[in-house]
Parts: sequence; C-alpha cells; structure tokens
Amino acid sequence: MSKLQNKVVLITGASSGFGQEAALLFAKEGCKVVLAARRIDRLQDLAAKIQNEGGEAIAVPVDVMNPADVDNMVKTAIALYGQIDILFNNAGIGRVDWFENISLERDIQTLIHVNLISLMQVTRVVLPYMLKRGEGHIINMASVAGLIATPLITSYAASKFGVRAFTDALRREVRPLGIRVSGIYPGPAATEFGQHTGKSKTYSSIRKSFRSRMTSEYVARRVLDVAKRPRRSLVIPWWFRIATTLDMLFPVLVDWISYAFTKKNHKVD
Ligand code: NDP
Repeated sequence: MSKLQNKVVLITGASSGFGQEAALLFAKEGCKVVLAARRIDRLQDLAAKIQNEGGEAIAVPVDVMNPADVDNMVKTAIALYGQIDILFNNAGIGRVDWFENISLERDIQTLIHVNLISLMQVTRVVLPYMLKRGEGHIINMASVAGLIATPLITSYAASKFGVRAFTDALRREVRPLGIRVSGIYPGPAATEFGQHTGKSKTYSSIRKSFRSRMTSEYVARRVLDVAKRPRRSLVIPWWFRIATTLDMLFPVLVDWISYAFTKKNHKVD
C-alpha cells in the first residue's frame, strides 16, 4: 500500500501543467484529491478522469485572489473529507519582459498577489486544521527564479523570492508542531505557463535558446517524491543547484553574465 493512500491533497492551479499532472499522480497513489483553479470545466474533466480510473477527486472553482473563494475551497474540502493532509500551493502566473514594459496592475500587483499573497492566504486558512491534528505537509511551488534573480523576470523573481522566504520562515515556525513545509524550485518546464507570461519580442527570441525539455509530468513526479519523503527543498533539474551556488558564492560573476546578456539583447528604441 502506498504511503499516501487515503491522504487528502488540496492542489491549487490543478487545471493545467504541474498541478494537473500532480493531481493524476496523487490520485493513482490512492489520495483524495481536491482540485482548485478558476477554469472549472477543466477541473471537472480532470475529476471525471480520476473517478473513471477508480480514484477520488472533487473540483472546486476558486480564484485564489478572492479570500471568500479560498474560505469556500477549504471549507468544502474539510466538510467532505474532514481534514487536509497535503496542501500543494501551486497556482501561479508569470511575466517575462524588460522592467520598463512591466505593467503595474497585471505584472506587479496581480502577479505578486497570485504568486505570493494568495499562497500565504491559502496557507493561513489551511494551517489551523493541520495544527489541530499536529500533522500535515505544505508544499509550496516556487521556482529557480526564487533562488537566482535574472534579467527579464524582475517581478516574477520578486514574487518567488518571497515564496522562498515565506516557506523557510514557516518551516522553522511549524516543524516542531508536526507540520512539514517544503519548497519546490523547478527550472523552465514545458507547460501552458509560457502562454500566460505576456508576449514580448524578447521573450519569443530567448525562448528558442532556452527551450526546456523538462515535462510537467517529471516535475509532478518529483513533487510526489517530496510528498512521500518530505524534505526542505527540491531544485530541479539538479544542475540548477550549480548556478544557484555560483550566485551565492560569486554574485559578481552572475552580474557579469547578466550584463553581457542584456547588452546583447536589450535594444532601447
Ligand atoms: P500553468 O499555466 O499550466 O498553470 C498555472 C495554474 O495556476 C493553472 O491551473 C491556473 O488555473 C492557476 N491559476 C492562475 N491564476 C489563478 C488564480 N487567480 N486563481 C486560481 N488559480 C490560478 O503553469 P505551470 O503548471 O507551469 O505553473 C504552476 C506553478 O509552477 C506556478 O506557480 C509557476 O510559477 C511555477 N513554475 C513554473 C515553471 C515553468 O517553467 N512552467 C518553472 C518554475 C515554476 P486557472 O487559469 O484555471 O485559474
């Protein structure tokens, strides 16, 4: 029997990409999966697929920016299953462009709200139920952009550095109370994420050179590993650890590489 059998897993951003793949894998392990996102049609299709394969899942429409939706999502999960064992805080959006092209509303306010504030809000609502039982596992989807800040992802990196800080601080606060907190730091992966990152000429041109071979299924499998064997953080692929260590030990070197990239690619009209 799987270690995760009968665990209740709440997944935000389950309508596509990492969240969707993780939902399928958790369900195969015998988990009861609560699927949350805005696109309810997609969640319902996914729930039906899981149920047809003999698993258990429900779809809950939620805009994580709306606290009433978040309350409803958590109450629905608790009313149906009585507990939440694993919270996979995965919903997120991106933006890739030079900072002067970044908009205040979508690319700073909304992005930081969805990626950081909402992640904290979902956690704030779920945590008391975990604390009451003295167990639970919170898995926060950050990004390699939460470890190393580079040109073109200024506001995204700011949000994911925030996720890392929150993840580490919360772990140190709640681990003695029985709650595990993990951070996931993937590099670029092939999902719908690229379609929502805001099209810029620069993004289209650099995308070709940074095309990722990492699939969402691979990332989801690694998330499942973390759920089975909780650990503080996971950087994928592993070699990104070299870049992040380099940035920590020799930040000036990463500055120089970034300056060279900007000089080559940033044409100011
Ligand atoms: P997708 O675009 O495929 O998935 C994003 C998910 O977030 C969707 O299910 C979307 O659902 C949900 N979402 C977005 N905004 C909201 C909102 N306001 N309320 C509720 N749900 C929302 O991308 P990925 O699977 O790639 O991204 C998942 C996470 O992984 C993100 O946090 C991202 O930052 C992170 N990540 C992605 C990487 C990549 O290269 N793909 C690399 C590193 C980290 P809906 O639109 O239906 O609401």
